[in-house]
Amino acid sequence: MVDKEPIPIASTLAEFNLQWEQLMLQWPEIFYYRYGGRKEYAIKLWGIQCDLGWCALLSRFLVELDAEARRLGVPPPRISQIKEKLGSLRIRFVTPKRQADIPTELRALVLKYGAESMTTCEVCGDRGRLNQSGYRTTRCEAHQPSPQIATPYK
Ligand SMILES: [Zn+2]
Repeated sequence: MVDKEPIPIASTLAEFNLQWEQLMLQWPEIFYYRYGGRKEYAIKLWGIQCDLGWCALLSRFLVELDAEARRLGVPPPRISQIKEKLGSLRIRFVTPKRQADIPTELRALVLKYGAESMTTCEVCGDRGRLNQSGYRTTRCEAHQPSPQIATPYK
């Protein structure tokens, strides 16, 4: 098991996409599937719909997911969706066919990191808190959204 380098924080949209791309390239087993003889991202349909503050958290999740799958002697499940919803990180798998077929230990990791996202600023990765009023987000004090404006996805 090789330790993955942490990924630096991006400041532009191009870097934003590059950073997610780098993360996906580190884990081809988790992010690719074969479609008509071509390699595709399982996640391509939805993309990664959260801000980069959670990138380090996701990176650690992937390390642990891979290690736990190896320990269980199963292939790591492929991820079809990563998004922010109601202020927390949501991760969905495409294999096996039903989410319930994913080993309990691996689903527990999704919950563990989902819980961690609720104390991690989605923008910068510093300690954050879940804002329960209005549009739910998890942000540090510096990145609290304006109460009038819902934060759009990039
Ligand atoms: Zn922040």
